[in-house]
Amino acid sequence: MSTSSSDDPFAQVRSRFAPRWEPRVRCGEGWAPLLVELDRAIAAVSPATEYIHIKEKHAQLIVLVSPPANAEVRELIDAAAAKAQSTCENCGAAGVPHEKFGWVHVLCPRCAARDGYSPK
Ligand SMILES: [Zn+2]
Repeated sequence: MSTSSSDDPFAQVRSRFAPRWEPRVRCGEGWAPLLVELDRAIAAVSPATEYIHIKEKHAQLIVLVSPPANAEVRELIDAAAAKAQSTCENCGAAGVPHEKFGWVHVLCPRCAARDGYSPK
């Protein structure tokens, strides 16, 4: 299992997971740019911050860090999560929450149509 493939858009983000936590980013690659941007911003204000979980749940971006986020880091995470709400999780284009069989994802119209999702 490679952890440093240059094809992996999450490589930089995964390199800053806390030890003993599986460095897996559980969301689509469409959110990679905003996570990379978030990672840079967090590194600038709080270099000791490491990730515990990064995932998508019910179309929300969830980022848990260690030590617990201070106000500055919290604000950065909230801003990234807000941005994710209008970013296609598949391709990064502008999107809105879509639903299929109770699964909710933020998708652009093209990805939603391809995968059979309907606007929520
Ligand atoms: Zn898309």
